[in-house]
Amino acid sequence: MAFYSEGDSNDYLFKIVLLGDSGVGKSNLLARFARNEFYSNSKSTIGVEFQTQKMEVNGKEIKAQIWDTAGQERFRAVTSAYYRGAVGALVVYDVSRRQTFDSVGRWLDELHTHCDMNVIIILVGNKSDLKDAREVSATDGKSLAETRSLFFMETSALDSSNVKAAFQTIIKEIYNILSMKVI
Ligand code: GDP
Ligand code: MG
Repeated sequence: MAFYSEGDSNDYLFKIVLLGDSGVGKSNLLARFARNEFYSNSKSTIGVEFQTQKMEVNGKEIKAQIWDTAGQERFRAVTSAYYRGAVGALVVYDVSRRQTFDSVGRWLDELHTHCDMNVIIILVGNKSDLKDAREVSATDGKSLAETRSLFFMETSALDSSNVKAAFQTIIKEIYNILSMKVI
């Protein structure tokens, strides 16, 4: 598993990838986390983008380099370069579209063909604000996460609920597991 230590060995850089069907809110989760912004229209961008966010865990500075698919997932053409070196992933579905939840298994399979089996994954049910349009219950999300040994959280990039918590959870878990291995 890729694990980068920089400078005085107090700095860590983790690559984390966002995965999930088109339109589930991956770009908005990242925009909310990194810049506290929300876009009501999908911005179609070409190529891969990432944002680096700093976080402190146990007095160590962690840099999380969070990659966004920027639209390739629409064509099921996420490249192996996107996955390379990733130590964590947020696999996102939309609680108001069952089909995006049904795709989760395919994203997990694809992740595991490109990454180490130990890659740390959080399953994210986004758009929890769409209460009347809900097609996937929190119980369904939780039980899939348990079956596949994933962390789980429901979020809303629109009303900010749990967005920070989801990213913080995965960053802390990566740190905990990797620091145990290194020591
Ligand atoms: P991506 O294709 O997975 O990157 O999805 P986007 O971030 O582009 O979002 C797709 C659409 O869903 C956009 O119109 C967003 O405004 C909307 N969206 C994203 N997150 C949420 C959310 O938490 N709640 C609601 N109601 N809409 C959202
Ligand atoms: Mg996007």
